[in-house]
Amino acid sequence: MMPIVLLGSPGSGKGTQGARIARHFAIPHISTGEMLRDHVRRNTIIGHCVKETLDNGLLVPDGLVTDLIAWRLREADCDNGYLFDGFPRTLDQAQWFYAHYEQPVVVLLDVPKDEVIRRIANRREGRPDDAEAEVVLGRLREYDQFTAPLIGYYEREGALNRVDGTLGIEGTFDCIRKLLEAKEVIAYG
Ligand code: ADP
Repeated sequence: MMPIVLLGSPGSGKGTQGARIARHFAIPHISTGEMLRDHVRRNTIIGHCVKETLDNGLLVPDGLVTDLIAWRLREADCDNGYLFDGFPRTLDQAQWFYAHYEQPVVVLLDVPKDEVIRRIANRREGRPDDAEAEVVLGRLREYDQFTAPLIGYYEREGALNRVDGTLGIEGTFDCIRKLLEAKEVIAYG
């Protein structure tokens, strides 16, 4: 089964949809943001290294993220496919992945910027990087600068699929599910 990449700005619903897709298709949901926050919570050496970067809404170094991904993909639960949420976030990460693994199916969650800002302002996950407007704007800038170019990259590779991310949690999930089924990304049986 092909790897699935969920692409979209902060606040586009990647976390919510990622969890649903993973549960529905019984594949692991690999969120680099969640993995990094977990390191911070557990006070690991990696957590120490990335805490300030996370709190400031900046991207952590590519090499660290690609190491985390490489370790994660060695686990047996990834053998039948997996879903990335928050990875790749830079062109270098995308190219590293393609060089070592395979071309993924990419789902872009399309949500207008004013809606994204409204959602982040409303969400209270106790995430320090959601608390301050300045940090949130910083994350959106990082997205525009480093991650948005992936849209063109995957479009040229013929891997990009756009989904309207404003149809509600169920409506959006339905579109993604139909898309993945139509592409026969998921091999049943
Ligand atoms: P959001 O979807 O709201 O942007 P995430 O949970 O995906 O939040 O990521 C939170 C933070 O973790 C990012 O702001 C960034 O600091 C770091 N991060 C997550 N994934 C990556 C990645 N692939 N490359 C670099 N930094 C990352």
